[in-house]
Amino acid sequence: MEDSYRHKGMRKKLVAEVRRKGIRDEKILQAIHDLPRHFFLDKAFEELAYTDKALPIAADQTISQPYTVAYQTELLNVKKGSRVLEVGTGSGYQACILALLGAKVYSIERQEALFRKSVSFLPSIGFKQIRIFHKDGYEGLPQIAPFDRILVTAGARDIPEKLLQQLKVGGIMVIPVGGDDVQKMMRITRTSEQQWTKEVFDDFRFVPMLTGRVDLS
Ligand code: SAH
Repeated sequence: MEDSYRHKGMRKKLVAEVRRKGIRDEKILQAIHDLPRHFFLDKAFEELAYTDKALPIAADQTISQPYTVAYQTELLNVKKGSRVLEVGTGSGYQACILALLGAKVYSIERQEALFRKSVSFLPSIGFKQIRIFHKDGYEGLPQIAPFDRILVTAGARDIPEKLLQQLKVGGIMVIPVGGDDVQKMMRITRTSEQQWTKEVFDDFRFVPMLTGRVDLS
């Protein structure tokens, strides 16, 4: 895979666009600058890779819009060494952005086709430390919990109870919650063993968070 000067130039413009839309965290902007988004897409979408749009990947899913990736990542406020659970690996792009910020990333994908692709592809571009699981994200990862941060990248009907329980006290979960058409971005902070606070942000459109896992036949 090739990352040319032309790609880098397009990426600089994308970063400027994401900045103009309101993203302020320089580390996140740098990560978008550094990560070749066209690597995560089919050749047919290479020319669109640096437009600020969600684009199709396999299994009828999408890679999130770069602005949305940056927005969720900003709310998540990851630190170097944070243990982060991502629900919805998809293309693996968001997981790599988190890894570039120094997070220890655990990512769950329900679609086997996408899971398999990420398992072989992410190490091949240098992200050997990201751990990927073929499971239902509603269950979280009880064997690895608790997490400092949880990021859900599919639209949920409700906030999954098991994920709330897998958050450390002081930990943060960012999750889009709502119906199939539109969801509100929410940030949940676990303030004690039995208490969580909820903040509501802007509207977004994600593919739905679905139960169960899909196996290739
Ligand atoms: N973070 C991804 C965005 C992928 S879109 C990226 O950067 O490309 C959302 C993904 O969530 C889809 O791949 C979908 O299959 C997955 N998904 C939906 N419900 C899920 C669940 N319950 N558990 C795990 N993954 C789920």
